[in-house]
Amino acid sequence: MATDGAADPVEIRLKDLRPGPPVSFIARIVQVERREITRKSDGQRRPILSGLLSDGTGTVRFTWWDPPSEEIDRGTVLRIARAEVREYLGRAEVAFTYRTRIAPAAEAELPRLGWEEMPMRRIRDLTPPDEGFRLDARVVRVAARGVAVGAEHRTVFEGRLADDSGAIGFTAWRDFSLREGEAVRIGGGYLRNYRRRPQLVLDDRSIVARLPDTRLPPAAELAAPARQSLARCEAEGGGELVELAGRVVGILPPSGLIYRCPECRRVTHQGICRTHGPVSGGPDLAARLVLDDGTGAATVNLDRAATESVIGLSLDACLERLRSTPDPSVIEELLWERLIGTCWTVRGSAYVDDFGLSVHPESIEPRPRTEAPDAADLERRLA
Ligand SMILES: [Zn+2]
Repeated sequence: MATDGAADPVEIRLKDLRPGPPVSFIARIVQVERREITRKSDGQRRPILSGLLSDGTGTVRFTWWDPPSEEIDRGTVLRIARAEVREYLGRAEVAFTYRTRIAPAAEAELPRLGWEEMPMRRIRDLTPPDEGFRLDARVVRVAARGVAVGAEHRTVFEGRLADDSGAIGFTAWRDFSLREGEAVRIGGGYLRNYRRRPQLVLDDRSIVARLPDTRLPPAAELAAPARQSLARCEAEGGGELVELAGRVVGILPPSGLIYRCPECRRVTHQGICRTHGPVSGGPDLAARLVLDDGTGAATVNLDRAATESVIGLSLDACLERLRSTPDPSVIEELLWERLIGTCWTVRGSAYVDDFGLSVHPESIEPRPRTEAPDAADLERRLA
């Protein structure tokens, strides 16, 4: 019960939030920052939390005066009663004051939306932390993967969706029985940044319906990226699905045989994990190739399967070699020997950061040397 005896306001959805009397709602913290500000009246320092809240129907900025001292994590779902609503630059914002009551809530208590409540969006227009939309798209790719969430092992379904405006990666924490090639309507997902690209996340509250196949362009059309030069791809900031080609001109560490922490999968250095200290790491293969096409360069990050395919050796075969020559750098040397100067076509997602263009390929295939653009480019650059 509120201290002044008044009943709590009825719970609202954030899409209906308007400046006015105090409100109650349930929402998830999607962004949060703790800082201190100086109070004008007495010059004292006062802690505040601020950030973004979302309930799936809308997103709102919040300010929490004198919050609890313990950490409030992103993703936490809260039941909030009697929050004040203000208007700032034409948008409603909420403030939690001494009158506001805040308690933890379960994700399942967040509002469930029907299709008709969710605005239709196209993939090109999706940006984190959007949610509460629906999307018609074709499943271009989907694969199951086992992941450890704390002590629990779960299966996630990862892949890519496409419509005629673009493509986006997704992760589903539930089995929606998605099949490659099918047309679907998806609602109740949310967006996050993953490897510097927007990614759609589907959880227990998301809904999926099958659409007639004719509602979207054919799979072959949506799945085929246009070949780009590395310079063009970098200028466009990468992409969800790009096709690039070039010659291997360098190999960056860590490449070859690596050891991963059994807890967090990070690469260990001399048996030490940055987070977990001394660990008995599991062997793995990886390679970071510098690809050059004459217009620019990209770092291509190969996982175990891709590394095995480009050097033509399995992880087991690499470990076998190590038994005769007990020096892990022998595999990195093998990469140099077999790959420098070779030409490849890679398809996958690409992003740009301070180190330039990076690619996480879904496929990497050798190209005949004669097809490589190097000779013509070299001439052009010399001219
Ligand atoms: Zn670790």
